[in-house]
Amino acid sequence: MNNVPHMSRHASVGVRVGPYRIGGGAPILVQSMTNTDTADVQSTADQVRALAEAGSELVRVTVNTPEAAAAVPHIRERLDAMNCGVPLVGDFHYNGHKLLREHPACAEALAKYRINPGNVGFREKRDRQFQTMIEVALEYSRPVRIGVNWGSLDQELLAELMDQNATLAIPREAQVVMRKALVESALRSAAMAEEIGLERDRIVISCKVSQVQDLVAVYGDLAARSDYALHLGLTEAGMGSKGIVASTAALAILLQKGIGDTIRVSLTPSPGGDRTQEVIVAQEILQTMGLRSFTPLVTACPGCGRTTSTVFQELAEKIQSHVRVRMPEWQKDYVGVEDMQLAVMGCIVNGPGESKHADIGISLPGTGETPAAPVFIDGEKSVTLRGEGIAEAFQDIVENYVESHYAKRG
Ligand code: SF4
Repeated sequence: MNNVPHMSRHASVGVRVGPYRIGGGAPILVQSMTNTDTADVQSTADQVRALAEAGSELVRVTVNTPEAAAAVPHIRERLDAMNCGVPLVGDFHYNGHKLLREHPACAEALAKYRINPGNVGFREKRDRQFQTMIEVALEYSRPVRIGVNWGSLDQELLAELMDQNATLAIPREAQVVMRKALVESALRSAAMAEEIGLERDRIVISCKVSQVQDLVAVYGDLAARSDYALHLGLTEAGMGSKGIVASTAALAILLQKGIGDTIRVSLTPSPGGDRTQEVIVAQEILQTMGLRSFTPLVTACPGCGRTTSTVFQELAEKIQSHVRVRMPEWQKDYVGVEDMQLAVMGCIVNGPGESKHADIGISLPGTGETPAAPVFIDGEKSVTLRGEGIAEAFQDIVENYVESHYAKRG
């Protein structure tokens, strides 16, 4: 793993969720959420499994109807039958108190409950319904995430803080009050959960917003004011590169400050797109920041006029896909393979230098260069590949490297 400059992490209380721990110094977990109809057991189980295989360590499913609640234990069974032990998190809004009470098998099958304090109910019903959900969590010894969201902020609380703000000699901007309301909503709800009997090591907090600067401000405040484990994510980040860039910008700033115990990247998939992309992006954020290692990443040059060939682009893509496909097997068999670094470079200008810094690197011939591709292993030139089949030969070299350089698991 890269050298991470000294970083003091937000000291949070660790929360156990299934086999994992969120916070308390544990590695930052990656999570994701399905977009299937939870009542559709097979589609949901298939998507949970795909997300888990992509590397999601927790998977959240919405539990919005009695049919969805009834489906949850069957989804769990199907996952277990597929040998997929990923913990399921239930996402509850409006009727969570009823669904958890009326579907004990659902409460049992879930490893954690997400409660949105803005969507628990109104006035006197709100506290009662919140209490019911916490009581179920206590009964089943489950942790909860108190997940506040900008789009469903508790309007009574916001009105209260706006009124207070109006009495100040110099009232603050509405956006500042809104940020404060998010943090207050989360902390007051967490305090209420504690009063009901849920211990701090069963409480995770999140305050999701859709703008980078708001997220940075809100989580900075949360981390300064509490030691709850924090779930980090930019909500409604959007599609394609915009969603990836916005999430990365927001998460990277906070992670670099040591804030965040678990992350989700909320990408909108393109129609028919692959839901697992959000998991890969979350892993890549953590790995490129040197915070965790998941899979060997390929360094590739962007290409320029010195190489009109697309061979190096194709090779970089092939190698990256190859290592992703092979990683589940390698991980089972070898220790530390996720730290392997690969480089695929387009020409002699930076090719040999960059390749020497990787564990295995290849420098392809640029336009007008001798049609030869030197391969460097551990900084030393090892072999020169030529002609057709360079990709396959390079893949073989990677396979041999894994076998010869990483200790076999016992
Ligand atoms: S390594 Fe060569 S082809 Fe790649 S960007 Fe640099 S100069 Fe261009």
